[in-house]
Amino acid sequence: MKANCWIGKQDVRVETVADPKLLNERDAIVRVTSTAICGSDLHLYDGFVPTMESGDVLGHEFMGEIIEVGRGVQNLHKGDRVVVPFPIACGSCFTCQRGLFSVCENSNPNAWMAEKLWGHSPAGLFGYSHLLGGFAGGQAEYVRVPFADVGPLKIPEHLTDDQVLFLSDIFPTGYMGAEMCNIQPGDTIAVWGCGPVGQFAMKSAFLLGAERVIGIDRFPERLRMARERVGAETINYEEANPLPELKEMTGGARPRRMY
Ligand SMILES: [Zn+2]
Ligand SMILES: [Zn+2]
Repeated sequence: MKANCWIGKQDVRVETVADPKLLNERDAIVRVTSTAICGSDLHLYDGFVPTMESGDVLGHEFMGEIIEVGRGVQNLHKGDRVVVPFPIACGSCFTCQRGLFSVCENSNPNAWMAEKLWGHSPAGLFGYSHLLGGFAGGQAEYVRVPFADVGPLKIPEHLTDDQVLFLSDIFPTGYMGAEMCNIQPGDTIAVWGCGPVGQFAMKSAFLLGAERVIGIDRFPERLRMARERVGAETINYEEANPLPELKEMTGGARPRRMY
């Protein structure tokens, strides 16, 4: 199959690599129909994340069609469309049972490496270095999805790929940022950064009851998108000092803060 491979610092190439195979009973193989590039892929591209190896397949935001499932996967079948979340979670360890899937204790076989660096290890992630498990990613024609009975979300036929692809990472990432702010109806929420995650955080703030959302950034195209697509007000921090500007816009009320 073809896959987007990390070759070295600032060197990424589409190469022909071996097709993935089922390795464990709870694996599935997904034929990728849509995939995305994350801002965090730049950390790999720029060489900031250790333990990348030449030939590693990139990509942790993808969706597709199930073409094969292991014997242990009862809830998915060949032909199902799924969005695959980027953390791999076993579903049964201490943290998974509490819904803390991003710190699953069983999905990163190289947890000891991450523990050395950070003190604790996150879950294994697709396409994100050997420190996080060395799992081949989703910027590829096919992917092996471990613990496929836990993470993948089944997608109804009437929804298009473009409508659901971002459930793989940036929509829930932005939503979680908004959710952590304990937004109350009528609140005004300021969001630093109007990149993709910021846009979803702003949209989520409205979904959670914010009355006004103010996006702060310096790129005119991002600020325009925040106004036109999200319905936010905006501040360009290269043109105005955000704090007095926020006070001015909110009549002196102290804005609640998030990013
Ligand atoms: Zn991502
Ligand atoms: Zn787990």
